[in-house]
This record gives sequence, C-alpha cells and structure tokens, in this order.
Amino acid sequence: MEDCIFCKIIQGEISSDFIYESDTVVAFNDVNPIAPVHILIIPRVHIASMNDINSDNSMIIADMVAVAVEIAKDKGIEKDGYKLLIRTGKNGGQEVSHIHLHLIGGAPLHEDIHSL
Ligand code: 5GP
Ligand code: ZN
Repeated sequence: MEDCIFCKIIQGEISSDFIYESDTVVAFNDVNPIAPVHILIIPRVHIASMNDINSDNSMIIADMVAVAVEIAKDKGIEKDGYKLLIRTGKNGGQEVSHIHLHLIGGAPLHEDIHSL
C-alpha cells in the first residue's frame, strides 16, 4: 500500500535488516527500542489494524505469534519472559497503520502503559 512505512520496509524501499522472513511475515528491529530486545513482526500483506482481522485472515496472527516465539527462543529470552503486544487504533496507541506484533524483552518490563 502506498505511503505505508511497513509496506515500504517489506518492499525494500526503506532499509531494515530482516531478522526473519517467510512467505507470510517478516520481522525486524524496532527503530526506537524500549527494551534490549524489541522486534516487530508484520504480515507481508497490508492489513491496517486488528479491526481488519476476521475468520478468513486470522491465521496471519497465528503465523506472527509463532514467529515471535521462535525469535524469543533464538534470542534466549524465553525463560525469563517477554511481552507480545499489538496496539489498535488511537486509544490503543497504534502509530503505524499496518498490523505489527511487538516482541519486547531482555529486561524486566514494568507495567507502564505509556511506554509499553
Ligand atoms: P505502534 O505504536 O504503532 O504499536 O508501534 C509502531 C512502532 O514502529 C514504534 O515502536 C516505532 O518505533 C516503530 N517504527 C516506526 N517507524 C519505523 C521504521 O521506519 N523502522 C522501524 N524499524 N521501526 C519503525
Ligand atoms: Zn502496509
């Protein structure tokens, strides 16, 4: 989709090193990390928000979660734990209108709704 930052990252128009990529999803470091591990997992197809998920396309969420867990194990943060987060809409704090799952960990995360 035009003017979508994350579509541009997928298409290579904005440079970002992919930590993982498959037919359906890609993962890369958040440009503004709030923890030692802060990775975004996104679908290759443009889906604006969770409000666009339905029974026909919800498998993409399962793909994103499975990749996040795989990366967490690869980074060695699974035993101490981590946070998976999908923000939705204005009140959810969503800034980029292309669904993304945050994988956040590597340090204790405090329940600060403004930073997390
Ligand atoms: P949201 O607030 O929508 O859940 O999260 C958007 C995230 O995307 C933020 O954590 C922000 O740092 C990250 N972000 C925004 N633009 C870019 C970019 O161009 N490259 C990367 N790697 N991350 C970005
Ligand atoms: Zn997009």
